[in-house]
Amino acid sequence: MTFALHGMAVSAGIAIGRAHLVSHAMLEVSQYQLRERDVVGELIRFDKAVALVAAELDALRTEASAPGAPAELSAFVDVHAMILVDPSLSEAARDLIRARRCNAEWAMVQQMEVLVAQFDEFEDAYLRERKQDVVQVVERVLKALTGKARKLSRRKTALVDDELIVVAHDLSPADTIQFKSLKIGGFITDLGGSTSHTAIVARSLAIPAIVGMQQARRLIQDDDLLIVDGARGVLIVDPDKRVLEEYRLRKTELELERSKRKRLKTARSETLDGQLIELYANIEVPQDAELAKEAGADGIGLYRTEFLFMNRDELPDEDEQFEAYRHVVKVMAGKPVTIRSLDIGADKDARALRNRGSGSSSSDGGSGQTTNPALGLRAIRFCLSEPQLFLRQLRAILRASHFGKTRLLIPMLAHAFEIEQTLSLVELAKLQLRESRHKFDEGMEVGGMIEIPAAALALSPFLRQLDFLSIGTNDLIQYTLAIDRTDRAVAHLYDPQHPAVLRLIAQTIQAGTRAGLPGAVCGEMAGDPKLTKLLIGMGLRQFSMHPAQLLEVKQQVMMADATQLAVRVAKLLKFDEADKISEQLDKL
Ligand code: PEP
Ligand code: MG
Repeated sequence: MTFALHGMAVSAGIAIGRAHLVSHAMLEVSQYQLRERDVVGELIRFDKAVALVAAELDALRTEASAPGAPAELSAFVDVHAMILVDPSLSEAARDLIRARRCNAEWAMVQQMEVLVAQFDEFEDAYLRERKQDVVQVVERVLKALTGKARKLSRRKTALVDDELIVVAHDLSPADTIQFKSLKIGGFITDLGGSTSHTAIVARSLAIPAIVGMQQARRLIQDDDLLIVDGARGVLIVDPDKRVLEEYRLRKTELELERSKRKRLKTARSETLDGQLIELYANIEVPQDAELAKEAGADGIGLYRTEFLFMNRDELPDEDEQFEAYRHVVKVMAGKPVTIRSLDIGADKDARALRNRGSGSSSSDGGSGQTTNPALGLRAIRFCLSEPQLFLRQLRAILRASHFGKTRLLIPMLAHAFEIEQTLSLVELAKLQLRESRHKFDEGMEVGGMIEIPAAALALSPFLRQLDFLSIGTNDLIQYTLAIDRTDRAVAHLYDPQHPAVLRLIAQTIQAGTRAGLPGAVCGEMAGDPKLTKLLIGMGLRQFSMHPAQLLEVKQQVMMADATQLAVRVAKLLKFDEADKISEQLDKL
């Protein structure tokens, strides 16, 4: 049956593919004790469900081995089939039915918990993550038990054309970054906000994504055919032929538009009245530098190094960090690379840091050590509380600076003394490197992110002590409006166009320009083509965004008149009313 769900559009584009359910959630099943005489019947019911799932997987395997089918799908199916027949799952569940007279669903979930706990013990991160597969196999069996198994014959298209669409209740940034190495067509999550790091990673992957869906994980079944309209935030489940054809056409058109935009790669990023606008790339992992180069970026405006610290039990040592940073610097071949120091905490969790008494809280908000992790010991606050860890990173960044223009960017500064302490540690790192005879750029620039309102409102220490500024609009909006950027419940209040936000951004750009420190914007606003003219009108000349967004923004730059925009935006900034601001914005 066709139905549509609506959520928050966070990464544009259209994906058409099969649902791949990813679960963290504890499965809710009915739990009851069987009468002795019902045990045999329950065992038969259980065996039938397992046989049904085995047949489903067999059918899937045949389709997955067809030429052109995504290789990942075939791998998923094989692993799932192995888990299903493993005695530690089904035999153990059977024992629970026999010995403890648990109903089949309950037995299955209990055994799943035992196995998941065992997987958690694995040293190897890859093996640990395989517990997801156990959960998914158990879910398939549960669906078969409850009679909700989907009929494979309901398929309307050949699997070979389809992409995998990940459907999850929630995905942490650490989960999402792992999809970089897989060919995933789209993302759907029940939770999340538009500038949560999960959404940011989806945009960096340039794949359609919708978050804040509320019920998607519950209503969608594995292998359901889905259309993800990432621009409108609409998900269509089991579409009919006509809708499918329409979306296939639209998808082809979008691909055509994207390939036409590629011609802009070598075009000058210049406004109609001759203002040069520098377009930089945001990256999360070293391999992204190639994408930045391909998109014709003027450099890297934000390298979020915290992703190197995620999904692992041991912290990266100085040499490993140095290799990662040097890779980016070398790929960019002399173009500036802005490396941000560790911005861990809030929704960005690194389990290797979890037990250090830091505020690096888990993304579920529950297992963290503070009530409000976004207001806790995150980013520079954490680094200053762990000087040895911070020095290790500073030395690695400095060593990379020997291989090309490198800049250091400090996140979450609010106090003048935080700038002073940071600069002292940079000097100490330099001293240590001189002693160990490592080469580095003595004049490496150090900049600060303006992402806390206090920093934007009391800018003098930043202008006096730093070499450059970069405005992090994602957090600036979060802290100005008191809206948790990851919380779906308040996502409608997260408003980049709020007059208070716009004024803070404009004031920072203008004060920086007056002081000879022209700032960049590296938050998500910089990559939104609808806001390009607004930011140019505020005086912004450096934008940093995901490589996938760069050419669309360049297209806007080339249609902008900076002189005219300055006048219009000055007028817009005087309004306090949202509707007037929107009206003025449309006129730019
Ligand atoms: C920001 O806050 O705008 C920013 C660029 O940093 P992050 O999104 O990583 O917090
Ligand atoms: Mg930030």
